[in-house]
Amino acid sequence: MPGGGGFSWCGRSGDPHEEFNSGGFPLCDDWAAMSASGKRMAGHFELLFLGTGTSVGVPVIGCKCEVCRSKDPRNRRTRSSILLQSPTHHVLVDSGPDLREQALREGIERVDAVLYTHAHVDHVVGFDELRAFCWHRSAPLPLHASPFTLRVLQQMFPWAFDVENTYPGYIKPLPVPFEPTIHLGDITATPLPLFHGAVETHGFLIDYPGAPSIGYLPDVKALHESSITALQGVDLLIVDSLRPREHPTHLSNAEALSMIEQLGAAQAWLTHLGHENEHALYESHLPRHVRVAYDGLKLQF
Ligand SMILES: [Zn+2]
Ligand SMILES: [Zn+2]
Ligand SMILES: [Zn+2]
Repeated sequence: MPGGGGFSWCGRSGDPHEEFNSGGFPLCDDWAAMSASGKRMAGHFELLFLGTGTSVGVPVIGCKCEVCRSKDPRNRRTRSSILLQSPTHHVLVDSGPDLREQALREGIERVDAVLYTHAHVDHVVGFDELRAFCWHRSAPLPLHASPFTLRVLQQMFPWAFDVENTYPGYIKPLPVPFEPTIHLGDITATPLPLFHGAVETHGFLIDYPGAPSIGYLPDVKALHESSITALQGVDLLIVDSLRPREHPTHLSNAEALSMIEQLGAAQAWLTHLGHENEHALYESHLPRHVRVAYDGLKLQF
């Protein structure tokens, strides 16, 4: 919705399965009203779901379950990642193992910065694909992450961070330890500490003038007190919903719903889903303000 602050959503551009992107989602009016109430506009802002799957993806290799054999493209889930796009900045959140496929599918030609949630393999191991976003820039590519995550990246890909890395075709990373608020043009991202197993993990509170506030928590079991405060009353929450059964490091479906309620989120999209969650069936049981995200879903503000 150019010039906007209004809210709309659409499926993958040119997707032959566009019929799955039926309307009825009550967000448009809500956000339009919010914009009318006086938030400053800065132009078009989009959030694109590159991947919405758990660490093994869906379908799971070798699995013959109904979800893994489903013909509904919303049940094909690459590893979780999003792209934020403003008129001046394209910001990737995580670089998982499917980054190449995701970038080709969505026609991504430019990334100006990467934000990392944590250093689990399903969020970092597509690092090498960042080469394609370095060929057309002279400055190094900023990688915003916690000092812990940056250390792991440097251990995993030491050649890229080495001062001897002078090969013109290779990634030139610029490690940027998290600041309390990260400014990427008009996009601001506030790192939020989360509990997610043994590895230090963050989500992000994303703000853009005229757009709803967005919480992005793809891998989470519980929230630090400070993150509860920061996310209280968030407009739109994107949150981990692995499967119906409980899991030691991820939210179950019931836990995801109670976190949405606890934070008082006006709207929510569920992500990082496993093959126990069939898209249409799961969505049919959800309250109206909660939806199941899928690869290629684009939210426009
Ligand atoms: Zn993950
Ligand atoms: Zn399966
Ligand atoms: Zn993880």
